[in-house]
Amino acid sequence: MEAEVQQAWVRDRTYELVKKVRSSGEKFYFLDGPPFPSSDTPHIGTSWNKVIKDTVIRYKRSRGYNVRDQPGYDCHGLPIELAIEQKFGVKSKKEIESFGLERFIVECRRFAETNAAAMTAAFQNLGIWMDWNQAYMTHLDYYIECDWWGLKQAWSKGLFEHGQRVVHWCPRCETVLSDYEVVLEYKMLRDPSIYVKFPVVDKPNEYILIWTTTPWTLPSNVGVMVNPDFQYARVRSDGETYIFAKERMETVANETGHSFELLEAFPGSKLEGLRYRGPLENLVPAQLNLQSGHRVVLSKEYVTLTEGTGCVHSAPGHGEEDYEVGIRNNLPLLMLVDDQGKFLPEAGKYAGKSVRDANPEIIDDLKSLGALLHAGEIEHRSPVCWRCKTPLIIRATKQWLIHIAQLKDLFIKEVDSTLWIPTWAGANQFKNWLQGLKDWVISRQRFWGTPLPVWSCTSCKRDKIIGSKQELLDNALSKADLPTLHRPWVDAVKLRCDCGGEMIRVQDVIDVWFESGGASLACLGHPANAKETKFWWPADFIVEGRDQITAWFFGLLRHGIVTMGRCPYKTVLMHGFALDAQGREMHKSLGNFVSANEVVQKFGRDAFRYYVLQTTLWEDLQFTWDAVRQHQGDLSTIWNTFVFASTYMSLDRFAPAKLSLKRLGKSLRPEDRWLLSRTNRTIKEVTSLMDAYKIHEALRTLKTFLVEDLSHTYIRYVRRRTWVEKRTRDKQVAYATLYSALKSALIMLTPITPFLTESIYQHMFRNAEAKNPETVHLLEWPECDSKWVSDSLEEEMKGAQNVISTVAVVRMGKGLKQRQPVPQVLVISESKALRNALKTYAGLLRDQTNTRRLKPISKDSLSQFTDSNRFAKTDFSEGTVLIDLKLSKSELAEGLARDAVRRMQQMRKEMDLKVDSFVHAYVVAPSKKEASLLKMKSSYIAGEIRAKQLKITTGETKVLQPYYTKRWQIDGMNFEFGLCETSKLNRKTTA
Ligand SMILES: [Zn+2]
Ligand SMILES: [Zn+2]
Repeated sequence: MEAEVQQAWVRDRTYELVKKVRSSGEKFYFLDGPPFPSSDTPHIGTSWNKVIKDTVIRYKRSRGYNVRDQPGYDCHGLPIELAIEQKFGVKSKKEIESFGLERFIVECRRFAETNAAAMTAAFQNLGIWMDWNQAYMTHLDYYIECDWWGLKQAWSKGLFEHGQRVVHWCPRCETVLSDYEVVLEYKMLRDPSIYVKFPVVDKPNEYILIWTTTPWTLPSNVGVMVNPDFQYARVRSDGETYIFAKERMETVANETGHSFELLEAFPGSKLEGLRYRGPLENLVPAQLNLQSGHRVVLSKEYVTLTEGTGCVHSAPGHGEEDYEVGIRNNLPLLMLVDDQGKFLPEAGKYAGKSVRDANPEIIDDLKSLGALLHAGEIEHRSPVCWRCKTPLIIRATKQWLIHIAQLKDLFIKEVDSTLWIPTWAGANQFKNWLQGLKDWVISRQRFWGTPLPVWSCTSCKRDKIIGSKQELLDNALSKADLPTLHRPWVDAVKLRCDCGGEMIRVQDVIDVWFESGGASLACLGHPANAKETKFWWPADFIVEGRDQITAWFFGLLRHGIVTMGRCPYKTVLMHGFALDAQGREMHKSLGNFVSANEVVQKFGRDAFRYYVLQTTLWEDLQFTWDAVRQHQGDLSTIWNTFVFASTYMSLDRFAPAKLSLKRLGKSLRPEDRWLLSRTNRTIKEVTSLMDAYKIHEALRTLKTFLVEDLSHTYIRYVRRRTWVEKRTRDKQVAYATLYSALKSALIMLTPITPFLTESIYQHMFRNAEAKNPETVHLLEWPECDSKWVSDSLEEEMKGAQNVISTVAVVRMGKGLKQRQPVPQVLVISESKALRNALKTYAGLLRDQTNTRRLKPISKDSLSQFTDSNRFAKTDFSEGTVLIDLKLSKSELAEGLARDAVRRMQQMRKEMDLKVDSFVHAYVVAPSKKEASLLKMKSSYIAGEIRAKQLKITTGETKVLQPYYTKRWQIDGMNFEFGLCETSKLNRKTTA
């Protein structure tokens, strides 16, 4: 069914049609968060994300909006470089250069485009209605030009510069990582834990005691930090004197196995300026040439008593806090490590060694120099490169950065003026993240990315920022050959400096988060298409997973503030993660990966959509196959509801256009009015939930309406009304009520399960009204008509349902079939609402409890009904129900007749008869008594089974040809029934 719908959509260009019809509506700019085209089989989470977007887009369209629905892909970045490196066995940046940068870039581009195309196909297969032919891709020239424009904006505002920063660095990838990338992956690492003695100048045998887990940073040591407010101690052990925090004495003694004798205690402030000698100064030449280093400085904020000695070894070249305190105290900066994480020549003995590999040698040297008090090991969580898993190092480098730390107030203000769903995601999580707002390091020392548009003069060192391709061509020294704006082609373009010198490009690329952060503008073709920007920008709505708070949501905000001075989105919705049943992330390597396609293959597209959309949006989805199966059950119920209704309506040639509910007003039964109340209340609720993007709640509300109100309640209640032979007004009223409820539900369900609803629409609704449009997507969203909404009708229906189910339970207990009418049902209740319900729904209650009389009685009169053989009594939440079990001949006849009808209807099904075909029938009863009971009801029986002729006899059974016959037991007695389609009998006769 779904494939058929999909084909019809393509054939009839339905998406294009809907988009065109809505193009004159109010604008709604949906901005797609671009997935990374890392794999060709989208994860359940990625598909869930797209289904949410598709649902919002379809909803907005059905409300008449002109929706901008361009999808996007985040095509640059190191993971793609890594994939190409692996494919060709390339192991380092040097090897990429010998592989050929041109070839490398072409491979990266092919990888990104191939995967993006495969993902597009998968999303299209899911029925995601977006503008797939126009997907924005971050590696295309127009997109890169927008990145350049953005940086030029930052430059002109004085926010963009080349400066020293301490950064996290991957020595394998040889590049800086952003703060966001650093928190992505941690590993438990085993590292040294050592206590080192720094000799105090001019005080023989006196040492400042420090603790560190990174011995490789000791060659870059320039100072020691202490907290001025803590108490420090001078202590003695084995003839030597140590200085460290008094409160740490016991712990340090335990860990090092030394006992300390307290000589004196004093505040840390007294230690300021205390000079010591670097323990490795004889092995590391850089340690000897230090000006004004190797002294104690004060820091309240970074010296704690939770670990170590309270004396903190400080290497500003390898620590952010060290750097900050170092700058404040004029400590020199030592950074002795190169891009590959190896020691530079100035590191003397350790030159050329990888820093982590040098740790054991440094510890040995400290030991032989008498500078080691104790060496142990520690296991701790440390950040590793999320792409290649190499442990990260921290080092000071010169990078291109955008100053945003100073704009924190504006960031907070913009978050406050954005609508966050759920509220806490913005109010708590995002704002907390912004408290640590730092300047944005945007340069990366890699290849596959937007080239940094900075050219630097080889003579006067001045920098120039280029804002567009045209500007580049206009300023180029010679005619440039640029197949794309990527490296290496762009590297070859040289510019003329104002000083007459030559400018060459700074070889960095930019942070991919700057690129995706600019999506709201770049995808519009900004700045070239100024009109587009003016019409659409800023985005009305974005939605992504919870990991994007610190990533894309933040990236967009940063970019928007830097370039346009405001947040580029108005409403942001955050959804959860798709996890496995145990709550683990799904990965191919863990063996628990399930692709959306697998689910679609087994259960269908709508079952997948319905399943993921019922999950509370901002909570995690724990995927299980059972749950999908369960939710698929709802869809079957919904489908059957529509099939039931449409089958009978078409049999009776029900024409909705001719029967307005307004005109039928007086003929409506209370249960019809109840359904209209439920319908209009559901419209009101679903509309406001969808407007608030609470899709899961809208879905659950719709489900209650379709499954509980329509399928389990109303349709059960109207079955007997629709089954009668004649086209009565009462039956038409039921149809009109049902039609109005179903049509509203169909439209509201369309954004959630578009395949199911399109199929239902085309088969059951399209031709019912002349003015119906080509697709379910062009039906107007229903409006709540509040005059139908009635609290009391709905409240009383609950009471009536209570009575009905209580009576059913009592019947079951007494072995009394539902088909057997009883003379009376009595209800005792103190509840006014229930007593009203008995009046309002009197007809329905008599019908559903199968009784002649249903009436309320007072508690006082209960004593008259104490004959427990005659009256079955049961309490329920709102009172007591009594059933009169004394059956008259007429009730017995009706019970038996209903039993017979049920069997013969069963036989009609077995014969595969059309619902409207007539039969000839006979019944052979076990005795005259049963035969006469059945004869009392023969016209009722004939009507129910559509019999033109019905014979009721007793005696020997005789199998008649060509009748379909069957023997049945009813209450332990044998009956024989025979049925034959009348049209067949007629043919036989004429033949
Ligand atoms: Zn790496
Ligand atoms: Zn110059």
